[in-house]
Amino acid sequence: MEFAEFARRAREVEAASADTEVVELVADLFSAAGDDLGILARFVQGRVFPAWDSTKLEVGPSYCYEAIARAAGPNVSADDVERRVAEVGEVGEVAASYDFAGQRGLGAFAGGGDADGRTVREVFREFERLAAAEGSGSQGTKVDVLFGLFNRADPDEARYVARLALSEMRIGVGPGTVRDAVAAAFDVPVEAVERALQVTNDYGRVAEAARDEGVDALEEMGLSVGRPVQAMLAQAGTVTEALDEWDEAAVQHKFDGARVQIHHDGETTDVFSRNMVNVTDALPEVVEFADRHLGVPAILDGEVVAVDGDGDPLPFQEVLRRFRRKHDVERAREDVSVTVYVFDCLHVGVPESEADSGASRTEPDPGEDLLSAPLAERYDRLSELLSTGVADLWVTDDADEIERIEREALAAGHEGILLKNPAAAYTPGRRGKNWLKRKPDVETLDLVVTGAEWGEGRRANLVGTFQVSARTDGGFEPVGNVATGITDERLSELTDLVEPHVRSEDGRDLDLDPAVVFEVGYEEIQESPTYASGFALRFPRFVGVRHDKDPSNADSVERVRRLADRT
Ligand code: AMP
Repeated sequence: MEFAEFARRAREVEAASADTEVVELVADLFSAAGDDLGILARFVQGRVFPAWDSTKLEVGPSYCYEAIARAAGPNVSADDVERRVAEVGEVGEVAASYDFAGQRGLGAFAGGGDADGRTVREVFREFERLAAAEGSGSQGTKVDVLFGLFNRADPDEARYVARLALSEMRIGVGPGTVRDAVAAAFDVPVEAVERALQVTNDYGRVAEAARDEGVDALEEMGLSVGRPVQAMLAQAGTVTEALDEWDEAAVQHKFDGARVQIHHDGETTDVFSRNMVNVTDALPEVVEFADRHLGVPAILDGEVVAVDGDGDPLPFQEVLRRFRRKHDVERAREDVSVTVYVFDCLHVGVPESEADSGASRTEPDPGEDLLSAPLAERYDRLSELLSTGVADLWVTDDADEIERIEREALAAGHEGILLKNPAAAYTPGRRGKNWLKRKPDVETLDLVVTGAEWGEGRRANLVGTFQVSARTDGGFEPVGNVATGITDERLSELTDLVEPHVRSEDGRDLDLDPAVVFEVGYEEIQESPTYASGFALRFPRFVGVRHDKDPSNADSVERVRRLADRT
């Protein structure tokens, strides 16, 4: 396809307002794409290379301004272009506004004029040339290549060359549009396209497979060691949501570091960042870890954390510094080393010895993709694969147990906890409801301890549960019980604190005079017929003793009511 035709169609897409119309126009483009389908499936999204490919254009805006100025003639400087971009707000519009053809015309007598427009593939080849320019003098080469592209461009072509060079297409086409357009153009199910995109991360290949081989080929596509997949993401959520939605929750510490995807092919290891950038050279510890402990090829998901000499976690910024490090990595490693917590397993290969010897390593890789397996199964596979470095995972339906894990995480210097649905598949790139980052408590309440209960067994002489109440005009009314996972030492202190205020005792139950005030966290306030106050805290947690407060300035039921309206 001529690049001018692509530019004309891109203009139409840009002008379309309804999503359905956009999908139709992109589907038409794909149907007409011929050999250029793979390239166009990326170009429409402002991408020149596949997301997994480490080839990058590395073009800064200033290169583009300089090339545009040169193509626009002697009266235009790079500063002029920059100024116009600041006025107009984006580079494409500015590139389209110059009369490149007029400039070209000046020299056209010698050179054959502008009759020969470029094809989409030729433009792509030029971008490849641009990406290949590295090292000293590369800036000059990149500007030359861009100049060549602008010099032969009509206004619409110039608009999209500029935008592609800066990876911002701005025609309203995202991954979802491309998925729907591929399905519509080649009559394959949207779900099959979606899955193939998840595993390959390659819009070009998926579009070609859909057209040339159909749904079967899409379904056969698999993960490949060495080609990163988008990471599954978490959204903010609560223990309440997790336990209401799922039978049980899988709980893990939330490590304060940076995401890594580890690809081990049996001999060598590549490490990718969350944005699928190859960071292997910056993280030799991760490579050594995988080389030493993995017996078979695998794709693993995890978090690297910077640690001090004692192995205690350091702030997140330290790990970022290591990620960016290009030189003297060994020296950097002496100052701050990193450790990896692996929490998921996306693919397990077969050992080299069992693989079909001599078979080419084309797709699908020998081995098993685990994306659609439930988390519980993926975690089992991971634990079989690695004897060390695997993040602990607890599966429970007990809020107190979750509370205990969270305390432990915070005490160990981690960020908090993640709640994961043990039955859920791995969904690349999605911020779904199956992984929840537990939200910190928003607002705590200062509540009066009005009752308590002796513990059981080993804790029979310690008070284990505390009834907490809010203030009313004439007294106090309970809103919940705080029980959770406090240490023996802490319980013993709290027992000493409440014992002098025991009014009466009935079996294990203690009735207390209002005297002690606790600060209490919770996830939510519900209306409740069980409590006289009419409200119950969900997952109340002991935060601390308010030694500075007496019951008369504890929080009132009225305040509880107001907070309940907000949640
Ligand atoms: P956030 O960056 O706040 O959206 O939180 C999600 C991030 O937490 C993930 O992308 C991981 O980098 C990180 N993380 C830390 N520990 C875990 C874990 N156990 N499971 C999944 N992600 C984790």
